[in-house]
This record gives sequence, structure tokens and C-alpha cells, in this order.
Amino acid sequence: MSHRLRNIIPVRWSNICKHRCFPATIDSRVWCCRNSNRGQLEMEQLGVCASNSSPDIVVGDPELLEKKIAAIRLAGPEKLQVIADFDATLTTYWINGRRGQSCHGLLQQGNPKYDIKRQELKEYYHPLEFNPTIPLDEKAKLMEEWWEKAHALLIEGGLTYDAIKKSVDNATIAFREGVVELFEFLEEKEVPVLIFSAGLADVIEELLRQKLHRSFKNVKIVSNRMVFNLSGQLVSFKGKTIHSLNKNEHALDMAAPVHDRLGDANGLIDDTASVKKRTNVLLLGDHIGDLRMSDGLNYETRISVGFLNHNVADSLDSYCKAFDVVYLNDAPMRGVVNLVSQLCSI
Ligand SMILES: [Mg+2]
Repeated sequence: MSHRLRNIIPVRWSNICKHRCFPATIDSRVWCCRNSNRGQLEMEQLGVCASNSSPDIVVGDPELLEKKIAAIRLAGPEKLQVIADFDATLTTYWINGRRGQSCHGLLQQGNPKYDIKRQELKEYYHPLEFNPTIPLDEKAKLMEEWWEKAHALLIEGGLTYDAIKKSVDNATIAFREGVVELFEFLEEKEVPVLIFSAGLADVIEELLRQKLHRSFKNVKIVSNRMVFNLSGQLVSFKGKTIHSLNKNEHALDMAAPVHDRLGDANGLIDDTASVKKRTNVLLLGDHIGDLRMSDGLNYETRISVGFLNHNVADSLDSYCKAFDVVYLNDAPMRGVVNLVSQLCSI
């Protein structure tokens, strides 16, 4: 959150209620902004709507958002960076009525015995991740245990880079409509994009290659990085394990040493220092915990965008309090494209 703006303009929850209408049922396409002409008009003026008729957006405090947009525009694109979560943020939550896979979940290592073992780990640890009775530090240790066991199974089971390619080819996963436009626009404006993920950097890169058919010199991935031997077989992982509960700790510090295959040599991000000089942030996530991705940065102004993909009625209040802009029901990325073009306009 922009502490500076927060101090000047306290968020007023009453405004949130003023600018939206709550539904009796979960049908956001009817109830979000469509029922509020004033609210819809403000969203359009702020340039965050995916289209003029899109109701799938909630802005808790339009005045605060407007001030943040103005502050970022004034500072210019050279002060801006985008920090994005990967799974269910850059990718869709649903695909043809089926839950989209995560970059960990799609991996088939070509050895069914080991795929089953990793699935068993998931069945054991996943409920623990969301168990409210386990203290956070204990839970973080459990997550580290899960990730490290899963990674060890990938090595032991002889994962190859070819298996990654094949898994991506067969995966039920898709980028949100508008992601290419977003990256292209930001590349043109020389605005760096950091993708922070507790998944697998090599899988994310293969997804970019196969699904988007191109690379972007401004996009850098901070995630678990594999090391392959000359035969293309996984032999180890580089650096500290990034899991779901530590991915945001010192995330920006982890950004420097990663080296990806996506144009790093001519990339726009040289080191952590250059990232840290970009003190305005557009943050994209699908969990409230994703807001911590900017923790390592002493930012001046941050606009946070949350994708509330499911359980809209239960989570809308908390998402509206946490994020400046909330897109509902697996919305496309077009609204964010509109927003960044506002942020980068002179
Ligand atoms: Mg996510």
C-alpha cells in the first residue's frame, strides 16, 4: 500500500459501499458495476474496465485509485515496474469448465510411479496449508518440507526437459486473454515485469514459449529453477526453495541472481538495485498474500489488482479492502492493459 497516499487519503470503507451494489446471489455479471451508473462511469474514467460494458470489476475507493494513477503517471514509466503472481493471475482459473492446472500440477515426469508419489504428497500437505489451527511458522516449515520432497522426487524420478515440453503441450492451462498485449505494451515502454512464483521457472518459461509463442525481454521470472545435465536430465535445483509461504519474503532480493533464458543478456533488469529504483508498482495477484510480493521494495505508490476467480460472495469484502482494483470471475487481462496505458500516458 502506498504509505504516503494512505496518510493523506485514508481509505473509507463507506465509499466502497457507495460505489457498488451487493447481490443477493453470486451473479456478478449483473450486480457489480452495472447497477451503478455512477460507479460504472467512474471505472471507465479511471480506465480500468475491460470494456465499456464490463461489469466484472470492483474498485473499493475510486478517489484513492485516481490519485494513485495520477501519481504514477506523473513519475513516468521509468519509475514503474509490474510485479505479477503466475498461477491463476496470468493464467485463467477455469478452462472450459475445468479447473486450470498450476505449473507444478501440470508436470508429468514420464514415470507414473513418481507422479503418484507427488500426488500423495499433495493430498497430505495441501490440507495442512489451509489448516487455520497450524501456526504460520510451523506451516512454513511444512510447506518447505512438501516442496523439497516434491523436488527430490522430480530428481529421483529422472525428470527430463523433454518431459517438461511434453507436459506443457498436454496441459490444461491458458493465459488470460490480453496477457500478450500487456507484456508487449510494457516491453515497448521499457517497464520490467517480475513474475514471482512458488512454481517452477523452467515450466513457466516453456509455457511462455508454447502458449504465447514468443519471449519478452522485459519479463523476468523469480521461481524455483532447475539444473539439467548434458543429457537433459534434472540433477538439482538452484538456490533457496521458494514455496507458497515464503515466496514473498525478500522476493525482490531473489530477483537479482536468477538467470533465465528469456533475453537476460539484453534484458532491461540488470540487478536488484535497478528494480529497487523503480518505486512505483503495479501488483497483480489472485491471493491476498500476493500483496506481500512488493515487501522488499520501499515503494512510493502501489496499485494492487486482485483477480477474485471464485467464491466471489465470500471473499469480495476482504479483496476490496486489500486490493485497489478487483476483477471478478476469471476476468480477462484487458482491464489491466487499459490501466497500464493510462499509467504510461503523458
Ligand atoms: Mg496465484
